[in-house]
Amino acid sequence: MKVLVAVKRVVDYNVKVRVKSDGSGVDTAGVKMSMNPFDEIAVEEAVRLKEKGAATEIVAFSAGVAACQETLRTALAIGADRGVLVSTEAELQPLAVAKLLRALVDKEQPRLVILGKQAIDDDSNQTAQMLAALLGWGQATFASKVEIDGDKARVTREVDGGLETLELALPLVVSTDLRLNEPRYVTLPNIMKAKKKPLDTLTPEDLGVDVSPRLKTLKVAEPPKRGAGIKVPDVATLVAKLKNEAKVI
Ligand code: AMP
Repeated sequence: MKVLVAVKRVVDYNVKVRVKSDGSGVDTAGVKMSMNPFDEIAVEEAVRLKEKGAATEIVAFSAGVAACQETLRTALAIGADRGVLVSTEAELQPLAVAKLLRALVDKEQPRLVILGKQAIDDDSNQTAQMLAALLGWGQATFASKVEIDGDKARVTREVDGGLETLELALPLVVSTDLRLNEPRYVTLPNIMKAKKKPLDTLTPEDLGVDVSPRLKTLKVAEPPKRGAGIKVPDVATLVAKLKNEAKVI
């Protein structure tokens, strides 16, 4: 079973993002970039499926600027077999990424596609769902456990009320939640090995996909600063303040 994994290059989760002074977006100049944390979990899961004998080949995909190659090399160091970069300078929105993935699925014929549940830069939480719809495949989003048995998958999902377990037929789109696994530490020998693994570069035109944005960003702004908190002497004062000042109870 071939597995396709999507990995996005995003501002590292430890970086405090700064909004550009003209409000047109987030300043990424000189900022540390890393693999989207949910995508690390996706690669780790694919590698575990391969180690269990359920997967035979793992193809990592990334779309964006040339530097996304570094993100793909990290995926190869975790254990993916080869990488595909769809190189473009265009601003990519979830629908465009889903269309690129659909075209790659047509070409590569994987039985399973694993994505992160959301990219921590745009927080869209859309690409996996759009991809499943475009392909007409089943989808199991927010997965916290994935088991493959022949042509079937059992996926436990994190839902509002707790956990939900689904049985689905392959081919399938899965998106990862935080508790699915803890990605392994990437070792130096594996980073060296990853340099020799194949990495192909395509363009959206090669895949016949129009990636033009459908949405226009009007303005990006910092969230309002939080006011200082206060200490209350007892529960009665707290309840009175919630009732009379905050008016929430
Ligand atoms: P989003 O819908 O933007 O929150 O992203 C959900 C998931 O889609 C991410 O965790 C990635 O697995 C995948 N994805 C989104 N954008 C890209 C991209 N440019 N390259 C590769 N994967 C992506």
